[in-house]
Amino acid sequence: MTEWVEATVVERRDWNDELISLRFEAPMEPFKAGQFIRVGLDIEGERIGRPYSLVNAPHEDLHEIYFNIVEEGPLSPRLARLQPGDRFWAVPKPSGFLTLDEVPEARHLWLLATGTALGPFLSILKTPAAWERFETIVLGHSVRRRSELAYGDTIQGLNEAHGDQLCFVPFITREPCGEHLGQRIPACIESGSLEEKTGLVLSPQDSHVLLCGNSAMLQDTLSVLEKRGLKRHRRREPGQVGMEKYH
Ligand SMILES: Cc1cc2nc3c(=O)[nH]c(=O)nc-3n(C[C@H](O)[C@H](O)[C@H](O)COP(=O)(O)OP(=O)(O)OC[C@H]3O[C@@H](n4cnc5c(N)ncnc54)[C@H](O)[C@@H]3O)c2cc1C
Repeated sequence: MTEWVEATVVERRDWNDELISLRFEAPMEPFKAGQFIRVGLDIEGERIGRPYSLVNAPHEDLHEIYFNIVEEGPLSPRLARLQPGDRFWAVPKPSGFLTLDEVPEARHLWLLATGTALGPFLSILKTPAAWERFETIVLGHSVRRRSELAYGDTIQGLNEAHGDQLCFVPFITREPCGEHLGQRIPACIESGSLEEKTGLVLSPQDSHVLLCGNSAMLQDTLSVLEKRGLKRHRRREPGQVGMEKYH
């Protein structure tokens, strides 16, 4: 039997009509930055649960999830209606391997996300370990429109705290992108524009890459990286690319 606990929404933030963050209180077990929990609501007599990454770092008091509304989905449109004081269900035991203890030694860490998959990387970047271990951390966030570039304040705070050690690269794929990269992540790796933007070389000797987001980005990025000699990282067979698929 899955164990569920009650969670109470403390604060919500609407980034646009489809992108929402909820901060909440719940008696959760300790977690590692980058992990996810299961969140649920009782819908027509049935408890529907889905995984959501935690955006907060383990040392922060309030927990936080960040999600988009999938119109045809059962859970996300209902989660999006919750207001401060409302309750939902959560499984208190976090899981997942998109964590720094799964990352072998490397000079440069590349964290590449589509959409709401930015969340677990922010959790990681709020921990001191990230800044102690890597010379440079690239945070790439691919969105369709500029209005989807959420958490600008958090990223600015990280930039102020860590200076050039953090290189934030937005990708805006479906509207004019100004100074930002205007193609998908795999295309920008293939063309060299991501390396040009960061001033770093994506090589198997120096780099470890974590990918999080939709399956097309994961597959296409992995194939491009494989052409450069990077390979999927597994505990028994170390490589340079770790990934977590949202959908
Ligand atoms: C390990 C893991 C962690 C996840 N963490 C997050 C998170 O932090 N934030 C978040 O927004 N989502 C996250 N997801 C996806 C999330 O669990 C739900 O699937 C999503 O919120 C939609 O839920 P739903 O019940 O409304 O629709 P579902 O019944 O889950 O999905 C309906 C359809 O929408 C597709 N879909 C699922 N998620 C998305 C999406 N984000 N955008 C577009 N299409 C989608 C599904 O493939 C399916 O075809 C995560 C998934 C996994 C496996």
